[in-house]
Amino acid sequence: MSMTRKAVLTISANPFITRLVSKYGMKLGASRFVAGENMGDTLLKVKELNNEGLLVTLDLLGESVHTREEALVATDGAIRSFDAIQQQGVNSNVSVKLTQLGLDIDPYFCLDNMDRIVAKAKETGNFVRIDMEDSPRIDATMDIFSTLLEKYGRDHIGLVIQSYLYRSDKDVEQLGTHNVNLRIVKGAYKEPKEVAYPEKKDVDEAYRRLVASHLRNGCYTAIATHDIAIIQWAKTFVKENNISTDLFEFQMLYGIATSLQLDLAREGYKVRVYTPYGKDWYPYFSRRIAERPANALFILKSLFRK
Ligand code: FAD
Repeated sequence: MSMTRKAVLTISANPFITRLVSKYGMKLGASRFVAGENMGDTLLKVKELNNEGLLVTLDLLGESVHTREEALVATDGAIRSFDAIQQQGVNSNVSVKLTQLGLDIDPYFCLDNMDRIVAKAKETGNFVRIDMEDSPRIDATMDIFSTLLEKYGRDHIGLVIQSYLYRSDKDVEQLGTHNVNLRIVKGAYKEPKEVAYPEKKDVDEAYRRLVASHLRNGCYTAIATHDIAIIQWAKTFVKENNISTDLFEFQMLYGIATSLQLDLAREGYKVRVYTPYGKDWYPYFSRRIAERPANALFILKSLFRK
C-alpha cells in the first residue's frame, strides 16, 4: 500500500476530521461519489443511469454498526430497497456489508438479518451481493455466505473476492466448484503484508489470474475495476477464449470513470454502477479519497466554487 493511501486512511479515522467532513462533506463534494442521502433522490439517479444503458447495484451506506437497533435499521433499509426497485421498475440489484448488519455484534444475529434480505431478494426476483470487508472478517463472511447460498441458490446471492489477498486463489477455486457469482476487486482496506501483496504489480497480476480462473471455470464474474489496462486485457481474454458476454459484467463505482462506463455500455458490454446512498457516507468516501488523493483536490476546489 502506498504511503499516501496509508496516510489518508489514518487521517480520515481521526474523530475531529470525521466530525468536520461528515457535517460539510456532502455539500463540499461527496455527492460526486454518493447518489443521494435518501431513497427518492437516489432512485432518480438510478433511472438516469438506466436510461444511459447502465445497470446499477445499490448500496445503503453504513458499516461497523455497534448496536442491534442500528443493524435492524440497516436490514430494513436493504429490504425496502428491493421493494423500491420493484415498484419503480428500475434495473438494479443490491450490495450489502455484513458489519452493517451486525457481524461484529453476533454472527448468528447477522445471519438472521442477512437471511431476511436474501429472502426478499428471492421474493422480488432479484440478487444481493455481500461486499468483502477487511481480512479479520473474511471467514465469518464466508460462513454466512455459504449457509445462505445453500438455502437460496446462486441466482440470489453472490460474494466479493479481493485480489490483494494471498488466500484468494484458493477461495476462487473453491467457490468455483459451487458456480458462485463473484465480483473480483483489488481490495480497499489497509492490510498487513502477512495477508496481502504489498506491491501493486502483484495485486494487478493476481487480479487477472482470478478473473481468468473464474471465467474459465464457466462461472459468472463481475470485473470490478477502473483500471483501463485490466479492462482492455479482459476484453481480449474473453474474445480469445470465446467467453459469452452473458457470463460477465464490468462494474465501476458511481462518479468514477463515468465516460469509460458509457463507452463500454455502448460497445455492448454489461456495465453495472455501484451506487451508494444514505447519510452514513464518510468511511466509503474516505476510501475513495485514499485511492486517489487527486479526489481531495476536487473537494477543495468545490469549496471555492460558487
Ligand atoms: P486502481 O489501480 O486503484 O486504479 C486504476 C485507475 O482507476 C486509477 O489510475 C484511476 O485513474 C482510477 N481510479 C481508481 N480509484 C479511483 C478513485 N477513487 N477516484 C478516481 N479515480 C480512481 N473493495 C473491497 O475491498 N471490497 C468490496 O466489496 C469492494 N467492492 C467494489 C465494488 C465495485 C463495483 C468497485 C469498482 C470496487 C469495489 N471495491 C471493493 C474497491 C476496490 O477494491 C478498489 O479499491 C477500487 O476499485 C480501486 O481500484 P481499481 O481496481 O479501480 O484500480
